[in-house]
Amino acid sequence: MTTPRGTCPECGQVSYGWALLQPEHQRCNSCGAKLSIETRRRKDGRAAPKREERQDDETA
Ligand SMILES: [Zn+2]
Repeated sequence: MTTPRGTCPECGQVSYGWALLQPEHQRCNSCGAKLSIETRRRKDGRAAPKREERQDDETA
């Protein structure tokens, strides 16, 4: 699981926490703008690669 991240489009402040999933917590502490919430993993392609190791094992 990934902790939700809220980014303020106005001032750039970032905050983390499950409370961000609730609309009343989706406000920037600094300027009060509505945060942009992100709950997905990054698109780095980092989530994948253990499968390759497995395949090697199974081939033998
Ligand atoms: Zn802000």
